[in-house]
Amino acid sequence: MVPKERIDALLAEYDRDDIVIATLTSHSSLQIFHGARKLGFKTMGMTVNHDTRYYDAFPLGKPDEILRFQDFDEMFARAPELVDKNVVLIPHGSFVEYMGAKRFQNLEIPVYGNRSVLQWESDRDMERQWITSAGVAMPKMIDDAREIDQPVLVKYHGAKGGRGFFVAKDYAEFKMGIDHTQPYTIQEYVLGTRYYLHFFYSPLSTDGYHAHEGSLEMLSIDRRDESNIDEMYKLGSQEDMKRHGLFPSFVVTGNVPVVIRESLLPKAFDMAEKIIKRSYEMFGGIWGPFCLESIVTDKLEFKVFEISSRIVAGTNPFISGSPYADMIHPGMSTGARLAMEIRKAADEDRLPEILS
Ligand code: ATP
Repeated sequence: MVPKERIDALLAEYDRDDIVIATLTSHSSLQIFHGARKLGFKTMGMTVNHDTRYYDAFPLGKPDEILRFQDFDEMFARAPELVDKNVVLIPHGSFVEYMGAKRFQNLEIPVYGNRSVLQWESDRDMERQWITSAGVAMPKMIDDAREIDQPVLVKYHGAKGGRGFFVAKDYAEFKMGIDHTQPYTIQEYVLGTRYYLHFFYSPLSTDGYHAHEGSLEMLSIDRRDESNIDEMYKLGSQEDMKRHGLFPSFVVTGNVPVVIRESLLPKAFDMAEKIIKRSYEMFGGIWGPFCLESIVTDKLEFKVFEISSRIVAGTNPFISGSPYADMIHPGMSTGARLAMEIRKAADEDRLPEILS
């Protein structure tokens, strides 16, 4: 990983009045550019073999400049050129995924957020250690498949967007579905409603809801549309489907805005606060946008099955605000909130506190 001192040295040469906000042209880039433009930043799209014409359809989300690279090796090698332009990178799920977490960590360009978090969330065991030691409930793990006595979800390590995951209700179903060539974990299938809670933690501010040494905001909540599980019920029972060779999958295809009942908010904030506090104890903290991917049971208990420690695509329905963000800064998206934070840090000469 690039040493923090190296990034701080690069930042010392940055013109704080001429920062360019850049990201990979995918995922939540429209929202990031739209938010950055609102705050008066210049914007840059970075692209590798991606059709970027769709930006023409959305002038307010179109980056000022698009830089094209043959591949991620070239992007990596041209880091000095980006540093010369005062670029601050905003990581999103596809950026880290396509570039590869390792290479992303070694990229010599200031990045918003803490790069150390990458290894904590990309390893399911380390992520579990972080969440559970924070005192936040997760779905139970089942160590031995022969002990399956309730519905479980079998998750392959490194599966993207739940591809290949499958549900089993007993050992026989497990045996029928398992691919032993891939590492996997077996997890209690939590029956309940899914909420993907989008928070923003600012270490630069103490307004509003005070958490750790800064302030915690809830900006929005979404639920993911997942194919084909969401529509499978229309064809009858899953057992029946399996006989026809049709298995449920969890591939994300879109996002829908939701709100949770108000009485769940204290629990949601409590979980987020604990996770932030623990992250500072374990690896120097998470700040900025993060998402707790959760299921609420009929006992009104949250179980968190994953954390995303950066902007998630589930914030995209809220480019012009959300029922929650509108009570903080009307019309503010997560992309705009990121830009506000960078603007504040630049104005107060505190960029090293939020870039790594
Ligand atoms: P991504 O990295 O895109 O978030 P992933 O491959 O890490 O996906 P998860 O987010 O862990 O996969 O899970 C994918 C989907 O499976 C969830 O969105 C949810 O619908 C479902 N899911 C995950 N864990 C559970 C669980 N324990 N009980 C019930 N459903 C679950």
